[in-house]
Amino acid sequence: MNTIKTWGKVALVGLSALILSACGSEEKETAKAEQKTEVIHWKMVTTWPKNAPGVGTGAETLAKNIKEMSNGRLDIKVYAAGELVPALEVFDAVSRGTAQMGHGASYYWKGKVPAAQFFATVPFGFTAQEFNAWVAYGGGLQLWEEIYAPFNLIPMVAGNAGVQMGGWFNKEINSLADFQGLKMRMPGLGGEVLKKVGASPINLPGSEVSTALQTGTIDATEWVGPYNDLAFGLYKAAKYYYYPGWHEPGSAVEAIFNKDAFEALPKDLKAIVRSAVQQANLDMINEFTARNNAALQTLVNEHNVILKPFPSDLLSALKKASHETIEEVAANDPDSQKVYESFKNFLAPVTQWHDVSERAYINARADD
Ligand code: CA
Repeated sequence: MNTIKTWGKVALVGLSALILSACGSEEKETAKAEQKTEVIHWKMVTTWPKNAPGVGTGAETLAKNIKEMSNGRLDIKVYAAGELVPALEVFDAVSRGTAQMGHGASYYWKGKVPAAQFFATVPFGFTAQEFNAWVAYGGGLQLWEEIYAPFNLIPMVAGNAGVQMGGWFNKEINSLADFQGLKMRMPGLGGEVLKKVGASPINLPGSEVSTALQTGTIDATEWVGPYNDLAFGLYKAAKYYYYPGWHEPGSAVEAIFNKDAFEALPKDLKAIVRSAVQQANLDMINEFTARNNAALQTLVNEHNVILKPFPSDLLSALKKASHETIEEVAANDPDSQKVYESFKNFLAPVTQWHDVSERAYINARADD
């Protein structure tokens, strides 16, 4: 009994010491926190029009969440396209440190960094879920960081709109011949595919799309999907709305950081930023999935939009042209070749898996 009591006393003394030392470290933590109340102010430039549903509001929510999670220590002011820099200059502005952070889509930089296109979307490539899996577990992120490092940038996936729509046309599209001479707004690799089939792709930021279509500067455009396209009023300029978005099966939104600015953050703020960006990525696909169909029904039932699938032989021709285009882009640029190899090595097995999971299930659910 005595031995047990003695051990009990020892344990009690030990416990008290532990509590005292815990109090000591708590005081130290409080003191540290007080020292850190300095607020860091950042600028986030975006490629999106002010309050663009999903993408633009996603940037605003991300800044708000980082501020809350950091208890106000990292305060980020968000600029819509053109407010601080034009949409297509976001990459350069963050690279040189005019802004510490950017929010956009990597295919806008294809003229400067051809391999960047693979981190937005590839025609007939990954869905949102597959892209996220490649980035996180298939080596995608390491390659993306490597491609952006010479520009003093750190990339992260900050959202995805899911499978997009094929676009708005002012005439019916019945065959590949209907793409001949068509002036269509389409960024990224999809635009390169259009060139191959005889159309003229134009890389316009979202803010200029509606006017360009209304004035006839372009004959057709793709933008995102029903939720965004309804808000833009694209139905006022063209009546035929085609699906699916073969050119953008899962366009990722990127958050880019000036490397010096990000590295200068204390460790906890870095973790907060990474965590908030991951949360934003999930939130955006959730929002689009939840809201696209209601917008689509409004377009069809209230605005008399004619909804049509692309003919299957046209899709087959576009698929063939897409594969050729991507092979060519890869053959002409060593970085693109490296990313393309990784992309291909992930696409084949994930397609094999999704054939017996997602696709089999969605087909089974549709059958009565
Ligand atoms: Ca698009």
